[in-house]
Amino acid sequence: MLMIEITPNKCDYCGTCVSICPEDAIELKEADITISEELCTNCSKCVWSCPIEVLKFNKEGVK
Ligand code: SF4
Ligand code: SF4
Repeated sequence: MLMIEITPNKCDYCGTCVSICPEDAIELKEADITISEELCTNCSKCVWSCPIEVLKFNKEGVK
């Protein structure tokens, strides 16, 4: 279950989380950021790497 929540319309696409993710689970497209549920291990490194707190760890799971 994916536990990383993305705050809509807040990401500035800096790419920091993408480079920090050990699983290559984060994809940045033109105006969209997605996390692959299959690849993500919920390690939460991306949450701590984001300089503007777009990503949140949600222990209830996302969706
Ligand atoms: S929680 Fe870990 S594995 Fe999942 S997207 Fe973030 S950095 Fe990658
Ligand atoms: S680190 Fe934060 S602002 Fe940068 S691309 Fe990732 S979610 Fe967006």
